[in-house]
Amino acid sequence: MSEHIEPLRGMNDVLPDEARWWNRLEAVAREVFSNYGYREIRVPLLERTQLFKRAIGEYTDIVEKEMFSFEDRDGQSLALRPEATASIVRAAISNGLLHNQKHRLFTIGPMFRGERPQKGRYRQFYQIDAEAFGYGGPEVDAELILMTARMWRQLGISRVRLEINSLGTAEARAQYRDLLREYLRAHEAQLDADSVRRLQGNPLRVLDSKNPDMAELIAAAPLLTDHLDEESRVHFERLKALLEAAGVPYTVNPRLVRGLDYYSRTVFEWVTDALGSQNAVCSGGRYDGLVTQLGGESTPAIGWAMGMERTILLMQELGCDAPVESPDVYFVMAGATALARGLQLAEDVRTAAPRLKLETDLGGGSFKAQFKRADKSGAKVAVVLGDDEVVRGEASVKPLRGGEQTTISFDALAAHLEAIVAG
Ligand code: ATP
Ligand code: MG
Repeated sequence: MSEHIEPLRGMNDVLPDEARWWNRLEAVAREVFSNYGYREIRVPLLERTQLFKRAIGEYTDIVEKEMFSFEDRDGQSLALRPEATASIVRAAISNGLLHNQKHRLFTIGPMFRGERPQKGRYRQFYQIDAEAFGYGGPEVDAELILMTARMWRQLGISRVRLEINSLGTAEARAQYRDLLREYLRAHEAQLDADSVRRLQGNPLRVLDSKNPDMAELIAAAPLLTDHLDEESRVHFERLKALLEAAGVPYTVNPRLVRGLDYYSRTVFEWVTDALGSQNAVCSGGRYDGLVTQLGGESTPAIGWAMGMERTILLMQELGCDAPVESPDVYFVMAGATALARGLQLAEDVRTAAPRLKLETDLGGGSFKAQFKRADKSGAKVAVVLGDDEVVRGEASVKPLRGGEQTTISFDALAAHLEAIVAG
């Protein structure tokens, strides 16, 4: 035997037994998106590195240390996408979607960040992502948040809490940035190496440092919320009123700045106390300046991303439902003739009753061995076919969860099975 090739750190296999959680989450998300008129967009996993540098910002954890970027054979620098927003904005500009138009979009797929793997933090992870382009008012901010609240309800998720904040406009933030820089300079001795570097380039990034040694310094820093421009303040007040009217509880967290540079005005995060330090399940915000920053026509925009692994961990932790997929009908066939005829019969039944989930036992062995597998499959009913049945043109139908065994002609089999499964 050759040596086994180990999987990469932080890259997970989703095994068939776990797939039901993924399917459940994705089905609910798709249903809610369609309830609200959000349409799917799919964008490449690979983009020019420059796209993310320009969108996410040079002084962010993602760009400084987490991106999987490399040179291709032609010497171009490419990167596996660490998030979807930059790619979606790029796609909207490349395809002319933003000219006199509004769009509500979603995408679901893998993202890549070279972080230290731990529970709820991986190097390939999946996000459900929503973006709205062309809506400047706080109503769409509220709608995007309500959509996530509906997803939690539909999934049966509790123990999530909404935090919101406003980052103001780029101009207001620039003024605050000077103020913050001054404050941090005055305490430069307490800054860690990352923060010293960011102090010059983007002092706001110091605020989302996860270094506990800096917590006190950050807690005493001047607050952006105290330096909001008037329009942003009104926008934020209206958003709060809309959330209150919709009955969505929130807390204002003036320290919430989010780890990406492109945000302006509203930012929010759904956090949980059920997953240890990986407490953010869904995060987002408004990014009115990003489209022009990436070369498009000025367009207000806002979006969020939900971490699928963390949401699934939460669903499992809270005992939420995710239906087990099992067949309705299981075909047991003994003998070469029965196997050949059975395979054909199974095709006829699938054609006549396309909703039935019908699994055939192609593993051979005795009736007994096959029945064991039938039982384990979770099927409601077994169809038994031996060489004698084939000669008579009949199958034995045996309910696996109690009930009498019957004999049914091949012609009547599909309708009979449908009736049992429905009953
Ligand atoms: P964190 O503070 O936990 O690093 P983040 O602010 O970097 O999160 P975002 O970039 O806002 O996260 O991504 C949106 C969501 O994607 C997060 O709320 C989280 O649920 C999920 N997420 C982010 N990074 C990872 C990761 N490495 N592994 C799994 N899920 C992740
Ligand atoms: Mg992060």
